[in-house]
Amino acid sequence: MKTRVDFHAEVENEMRISLPSLSVNEGMARSAVAAFCAQLNPTAVELADIKCAVSEAVTNSIVHGYRDTVGEITIHVMLCEGRMIQIEIRDKGCGIEDVKRAREPLFTTDAQGERSGMGFTVMESFCDGVRVSSRIGKGTSVTLLKRLHK
Ligand code: ATP
Ligand code: MG
Repeated sequence: MKTRVDFHAEVENEMRISLPSLSVNEGMARSAVAAFCAQLNPTAVELADIKCAVSEAVTNSIVHGYRDTVGEITIHVMLCEGRMIQIEIRDKGCGIEDVKRAREPLFTTDAQGERSGMGFTVMESFCDGVRVSSRIGKGTSVTLLKRLHK
């Protein structure tokens, strides 16, 4: 059973970064988030979980949100009371038609057969909460919640 998380905990420190949706920036984004979270002394496993989830969300913005175009990806990391981390990854890309369906394991809109449709499932398994909000033509926002060990 997943821990219930409070999305409204008090923010103690935060970081915002903005990057163009180039695949070369995916590694940078995940490392920057991990470096910022490191001040809370997470375990190696917790840090790996965060990196993996951020990587999935950022990759989605690059390959689905903006597809063949390049747009802005913003990442807002909040370190909250109770050792809770909230990470919002936002794009202004094409948006998701049916978020509920997109979150189902193995669902993908990739026609080339290169993707497995497991990105959201990975985010859910490595985090304590995942929120997705999206509007067609406006973009997508994915919020990851991770509670660190006490
Ligand atoms: P995988 O992540 O395993 O490579 P995938 O990206 O297709 O495959 P998910 O990450 O679970 O699988 O995403 C499911 C679907 O949701 C995608 O195929 C895409 O249609 C849609 N999607 C996800 N993120 C975005 C986004 N930021 N903008 C637009 N569509 C998105
Ligand atoms: Mg994906």
